[in-house]
Amino acid sequence: MSRSAHPAGPRHADVFPEGHYTAPPADLNVLDPKVWARTVSRDDQGQATVGGLGVTQLAEEFGTPAYFLDETDFRARCRAWAEAFGADADVFYAGKAFLSRAVVRWLTEEGLNLDVCSAGELSTALSAGMPAERIAYHGNNKSEEEIRRAVEAGVGRIVLDSFQEIVRVAHIAQSLGKRQRVQIRVTVGVEAHTHEFIATAHEDQKFGIALAGGQAAEAVRRALSLDGLELIGIHSHIGSQIFDMAGFEVSARRVVQLLAEVRDEHGVELPEIDLGGGLGIAYTSEDDPREPHDIAKALNEIVTRECESAGLRTPRISVEPGRAIVGPTAFTLYEVGTVKPLEGLRTYVSVDGGMSDNIRTALYDAEYSVSLVSRTSDAAPMLVRVVGKHCESGDIVVRDAFLPADIAPGDLVAVPATGAYCRSMASNYNHALRPPVVAVRDGEARVIVRRETEEDLLRLDVG
Ligand SMILES: *Cc1c(COP(=O)(O)O)cnc(C)c1O
Repeated sequence: MSRSAHPAGPRHADVFPEGHYTAPPADLNVLDPKVWARTVSRDDQGQATVGGLGVTQLAEEFGTPAYFLDETDFRARCRAWAEAFGADADVFYAGKAFLSRAVVRWLTEEGLNLDVCSAGELSTALSAGMPAERIAYHGNNKSEEEIRRAVEAGVGRIVLDSFQEIVRVAHIAQSLGKRQRVQIRVTVGVEAHTHEFIATAHEDQKFGIALAGGQAAEAVRRALSLDGLELIGIHSHIGSQIFDMAGFEVSARRVVQLLAEVRDEHGVELPEIDLGGGLGIAYTSEDDPREPHDIAKALNEIVTRECESAGLRTPRISVEPGRAIVGPTAFTLYEVGTVKPLEGLRTYVSVDGGMSDNIRTALYDAEYSVSLVSRTSDAAPMLVRVVGKHCESGDIVVRDAFLPADIAPGDLVAVPATGAYCRSMASNYNHALRPPVVAVRDGEARVIVRRETEEDLLRLDVG
């Protein structure tokens, strides 16, 4: 995405510092529906509301910082994905994006399946009543204990990630008198980025087994030879925050090619392929994500076409969106503590959270937007950097944004699209207390993950 400096900014930002920002939006008071959860709007007093509840009241009741999750939006997105893919495909929500027992119940009710990748995620899923057969277990280094628990629970599939694991899972399943349904995760030599994809000759990362050099074909050979395993398909996950379907196209083509090789060698047509997750969302108004319906149509067409040309029956497709379901449904609400104008540079707006509740900006330069939500303002746009309260200068929440020039301590600001990989990656850095997740629906707000307390911190510290 090419970004250009705004030609005429506010006075104290006339000397534009290096950064990535666009012109300020025409009206800072508008909450762009592209980046905000479905039920967010402004009321007559100018404050933002979600599910009909004003942020001022929400901040008083639940404190800041806090994540507010629009349950109506979450359920609608689940339904949109399930309907788009239909009865002949499976949608697995990637639990690592954000998982709690309430989320598991919503998924169960809306007919989705669930990806987990640790014993902790598995026990959360099972304790909230997700049927084990609707759970897929992932990870590049599952412990024997984790594998045993997954097999005992009866998970629908374990996604095998290495040669050692093929033997390990087979052995454990056999010792429990079971035959475990498995997929093999392959790396197809496509590295998908947000705006490009690079075909790499070899795969220099920790996940999966390479198609290149016949490794994946060898993995299939071994899996088919072991009594403890029922090989049901091939899995490929190519990256995240992807907008371009070209990477999926290459991935699907190569996976289908492997299916054809497996048929030729073993006389077996594996019944399933999983194309992973990674579908992009709008973090700023410049991002243009695709609708689930378009994605489903594109993936179905690609797989059907490739299978036809290989003379294969079309396998059952599954996908694993995490971010695309939960990401847009939540925002983080902060209170402004200090406003520090640096002459000729920019203004730093400090909020009462930071890298402990959103590590993505510091970790991979993620882009976010931010809005003043406790009131509207007619003041001119001012170029700001929204930072947290942690003892690190990299503690940035929003690198470059425009807020009204009259932004002041006590104002509430909110960062939209923080539903995925924010609470799930939150830390206790500086002994910060991890914020609560509050689900909002039809005028009611309910804590689904409570705020951490100092007592929680001290309980782990056994002295
Ligand atoms: C992380 C992950 C996903 C979900 O990725 P999103 O970008 O959240 O959609 C899906 N499948 C696998 C195997 C993953 O590791």
